[in-house]
Amino acid sequence: MSLVKITGLHKHFGANHVLKGIDLEVAQGDVVALIGRSGSGKSTLLRTINGLETIDKGELVVDGAALHDGKGDLRALRQKVGMVFQQFNLFPHLTAGQNVMLAPTVVKSTSKREAEDIAKEMLLKVGLSDKFNSFPDQLSGGQQQRVAIARALAMKPKVLLCDEITSALDPELVNEVLAVVRQLASEGMTLIMVTHEMRFARDVGNKLIFMHQGRIHESGDPKTVFAAPQTPELAGFIGAVQ
Ligand code: ADP
Ligand code: MG
Repeated sequence: MSLVKITGLHKHFGANHVLKGIDLEVAQGDVVALIGRSGSGKSTLLRTINGLETIDKGELVVDGAALHDGKGDLRALRQKVGMVFQQFNLFPHLTAGQNVMLAPTVVKSTSKREAEDIAKEMLLKVGLSDKFNSFPDQLSGGQQQRVAIARALAMKPKVLLCDEITSALDPELVNEVLAVVRQLASEGMTLIMVTHEMRFARDVGNKLIFMHQGRIHESGDPKTVFAAPQTPELAGFIGAVQ
């Protein structure tokens, strides 16, 4: 059974038809790499899966939480899905630990003590157990992004969406963040990630999706798809990013 099932999904921004009938199934434990040129609709697709954008038409189901033509239980959907963005957006006046504790405390009414335990566990998971009391400006970009991952994990999502989470980082900090994602994948976390790290997509992903002009233009096993792109658009894209 699919953890995420998207059927005939359409999204417009005014006259701009941004998602033109997306069909996508993601199983528990899948690591989906989403690639494509700027403007092809990758971020919009992730944001619809997280309930951050409304849907004009189509169906979206995440672990039983469903939206039909934009109507449904958004709150239930959001509880199933975690998201990490290119900009880490940590609260600067809160420590790493407090940043991670915030959502469980506010959204789930978890007790402070329990939220603290969750935050410690999640910071350990991303290799930052010694930074609980550090403020964001005392951390490197890579460490801040790892706190942002811990913050998303603290809500115990069924699926984690990552939108170009290494794109804002200095090159020497990219690998420490990718290592965390690789670890999560090996532990069975279901991941959908927009990435420009093609080697990472090929090595860690088990599904590759190439978006072009609001449609899934090609998809399949990453190693197969990269080795033999079937369309000139994907061949051109791979050539341009390598
Ligand atoms: P990608 O992530 O692949 O670069 P996006 O999903 O960000 O692409 O954007 C797809 C299209 O949707 C672009 O034409 C973009 O300008 C448009 N778009 C994205 N977000 C908005 C928004 N909030 N309002 C209006 N247009 C948007
Ligand atoms: Mg984007």
